[in-house]
Amino acid sequence: MAKISIRVVECGHTSLDFQLVASGHPKQLEVYNRHKGHHCGASLDSEGRIITHPIYTFIIEHPDGLLLIDTGMSATTRSDWKHAFYPNAMPYHPEADELFVDRLDQLNLKPHDFKDLILTHLHTDHAGNTSLFAKTPARIIVHQDELRGAVEVKGGMLRDDNITLWGLTSPQGFTRRDFGCLLPDRATLVFGDQQIYPGIWTVSFPGHTWGTMGVAVKLENTGWMLLASDHIYMTHNWGKVFVPSILNHDPTKWAHSAVKTRRLMQQYNMRIFPGHDDKIIVPSDNEDGFVLEPVRAFYD
Ligand SMILES: [Zn+2]
Ligand SMILES: [Zn+2]
Repeated sequence: MAKISIRVVECGHTSLDFQLVASGHPKQLEVYNRHKGHHCGASLDSEGRIITHPIYTFIIEHPDGLLLIDTGMSATTRSDWKHAFYPNAMPYHPEADELFVDRLDQLNLKPHDFKDLILTHLHTDHAGNTSLFAKTPARIIVHQDELRGAVEVKGGMLRDDNITLWGLTSPQGFTRRDFGCLLPDRATLVFGDQQIYPGIWTVSFPGHTWGTMGVAVKLENTGWMLLASDHIYMTHNWGKVFVPSILNHDPTKWAHSAVKTRRLMQQYNMRIFPGHDDKIIVPSDNEDGFVLEPVRAFYD
């Protein structure tokens, strides 16, 4: 098979209450302590309360062209959110050269260079620069349940942003500015698991949002890699007993999706790249069934 590679493009960091990332577990403290030494890309403050974590996009080079996974966060996120709670709860603080558009410049790339864009879900830290691609020839691939959910709940003529149930199952983190350009027919809608190119699949993981997807990539040297996006939010959520995030819309669907991820790991010896961590989950013969490895900038 011809060569496929993944470039990891980090676009700055956001901060968030750690309890929102990993909660609902009877051994919360143990989960926290297991990852206490977590410092370069993702770190907890001195009280172990606020976690600062990276925002990622990925560029996949494959024989037919360039494929972009997610678009990072926009520079205008604060003003795009109509409700003040979310930008205050998850502030974005990129350095001068860390915005998605800066990263493209640094790589000498333009939106027109991509053949496809896959949006793993429509949260604004993943879909924040989608409008840059609306007028390019690129396919924009998104799960049909995700677009429907975003439009029905967050995209109507009347906004419901002021009816906010912070915490459990609250559909936060969407702005119409991000996904409005996909309407009425600019998106290529997918469902279930689909092979987009030989060795590149979209994999359905509902639960974090209506139609969260991962992207599974078969690399010649590294083997199968799952870009899990926020389905596996951080390595903290992974274990013999999964640790859900309270940000998940649907805890039951998320649990089924988590089991699906573990089965994929076992069947394909798949590495798991979480949505917002500086480590990846690598299958192992040890007692836990996995080890953590630092994120690399390039695979294969
Ligand atoms: Zn995210
Ligand atoms: Zn998300």
